[in-house]
Amino acid sequence: MDWRSGAACTGIAPGLFLPPLPPRGDPRPALEYCRRCPVLMECAESSLRVGRRHGVVAGVWLSVDPGAREVLREISAGRVRQRRCVRCWRVLDATATERSCELCGFAEVPV
Ligand code: SF4
Ligand SMILES: [Zn+2]
Repeated sequence: MDWRSGAACTGIAPGLFLPPLPPRGDPRPALEYCRRCPVLMECAESSLRVGRRHGVVAGVWLSVDPGAREVLREISAGRVRQRRCVRCWRVLDATATERSCELCGFAEVPV
């Protein structure tokens, strides 16, 4: 069976996963789907394979998130080392000293 049949975003308008670039775009509605998606690894692997560069896939905002492709590689390999906002699940810059999420302003992010 195709991995997409188990995707949390099945039937959701694709435009939700293609938010405009910052400052106008907001990936949070898409991230809510990815956060509870059972095929996150497969989605990341597929996106790497086809060389996707835009949109939100596997909980990564490809054209915006720092180190997006490296994060996809980690997800596809089953590693969960990414640092994310606990509220909106946005990938945070692992090297940044700022400990709040620029999208939702939530400050208690894990280190
Ligand atoms: S991880 Fe996100 S983009 Fe990928 S299939 Fe799941 S909900 Fe869709
Ligand atoms: Zn956030």
